[in-house]
Amino acid sequence: MSYARQRLNIHLAAAQPSATYRMIDRVAERRASGAPVISLNAGEPDFDTPAHVRQAAIDAIHAGHTRYTQVAGLRALREAIAAKFRDENGIETRWQDTLVCSGGKQVIYNALAATLNAGDEVIIPAPYWVSYPEMVQLCGSRAVVVACGEASGFKLTPQALSAVVTPRTSWLILNSPSNPTGAVYSEAELRALAEVLLDRPDVLVLSDDIYEHLIFDGASFSTMAQVEPRMRDRTLTMNGVSKAYAMTGWRIGFATGPAWLLEAMEKLQGQQTSGACSISQHAALAALTGPQDFVRDTRSVFERRRDAVASRLNRIPGLRCAKPAGAFYAFASCEGLIGRRSAAGRLLSSDEDVALALLDEAGVAVMPGSAFGLGPYLRIAYALDEASLDKACTGIQGFAESTSA
Ligand code: GLU
Repeated sequence: MSYARQRLNIHLAAAQPSATYRMIDRVAERRASGAPVISLNAGEPDFDTPAHVRQAAIDAIHAGHTRYTQVAGLRALREAIAAKFRDENGIETRWQDTLVCSGGKQVIYNALAATLNAGDEVIIPAPYWVSYPEMVQLCGSRAVVVACGEASGFKLTPQALSAVVTPRTSWLILNSPSNPTGAVYSEAELRALAEVLLDRPDVLVLSDDIYEHLIFDGASFSTMAQVEPRMRDRTLTMNGVSKAYAMTGWRIGFATGPAWLLEAMEKLQGQQTSGACSISQHAALAALTGPQDFVRDTRSVFERRRDAVASRLNRIPGLRCAKPAGAFYAFASCEGLIGRRSAAGRLLSSDEDVALALLDEAGVAVMPGSAFGLGPYLRIAYALDEASLDKACTGIQGFAESTSA
C-alpha cells in the first residue's frame, strides 16, 4: 500500500461513488462482453436532441463561438433563462440573477460547496437522487435523511420536516417531479412546507426542477419560489436542458436565486471549470428560445409508456407499483421477492440482490431502490421505446415467476 494514499481527502474517502454511474458502467461491461442488456437503469431520455438545437451547435462552431464565455454564462442565454423562469414559473428575475453551469449537478454542488460549513445539516427527503447526500458528504457536512414512504406518496410532510429542523439546518433539498419515484408536490404541499420554514429565515431551499416538463394527467407544475414569494430570497431554483430537450450529454444546467448566493457560486466556478462549454450554451439557447413542440410531444410519449409499464409491473408476482405522476421512473416495491431464490439459485435478500440477479439472469438493468435511500424497491426508468419496454417487462416477469421460496 502506498503511504501517499493517506493524503486522500477524508470527506472524499468517506463518500460513495455515484450508484447510477456504477450501474451504467456495469451495463457497458456486460455489453462489451457480448451479453445483451435492456437498460432501464439510466435516467436519460432515449430521444435525439431536436434537429434545430443540433444545428445551432454546428452553426456556433462555424461562427467561431469556440472560446471562453463569461463564467456565469453567455448573456443571451442568461436572458433566455430569466425569461423562462418568468414566463413558465412566475418567478420574476433578471438575467443578472441567473447562473449557467456544466450540468444540473454542478449547480447543486456549487450551491452546497459555496455555503456549507463543518457541522451544518442538509435535510434530504428519501427516496432521493443518489448524488445529494454524497455531495453533502463531500462538503464535510451532514445529510439528514428523512424517510418518506408510500403512505405519504414518497413526499415530505410538514410534520416530518418540523421534526428534523435544528439550529444547524442549512438547506432543505426538494425535487419535484422526483427522481426516483416520479412523485409531484402540489402547490398546497409546497406552501405547507414553506410554512414550517418561514420562521427560520436562515434555512435555504434548493428546488431541483429538472423534471419540470415531465408531469402527467394534465397536472400543473409548482415550485417553491413561485408558490411562496416570502421564500424567494433564500430559494435556489435549479433547472436545465438535459431532460426537457434530451440534452444530457451537453451538460447545461442553470439556476436563479439570491444574488449573494449566485455570486458565491460564480466565484467558485471561476476557480474551477470557468464557464460551461460555449457550443453547448449556444445549443441551450436554441432549445429555450426555439419551438417547444418537442417538450409537449415527448411528455405524451412518456405518459403512454408510464401507463403501459405501471400496468405491466403490477401484474408481475412480487412487484407492486403506484402510478407515478411525473419524471420517467417507476418505483416498484419488490418486497414480494425478498427471501426467495432466483432460477440460478441466488438468495434474494435485498433489492440490490434482485437488481443484480435480474441483470445477470434476465439481461434487464434496473436500479435498486436502496441506492436512493429506500428499499426494497426497484427504480425502473421507462426512457426506452415501447417494444423494448415490453421485452424488458417480459424479462422481469419471467425472472419473478421463476423464483422459488
Ligand atoms: N440523473 C440520472 C439518473 O438518476 C443520470 C445519472 C446521474 O447523474 O446520476 O439516472
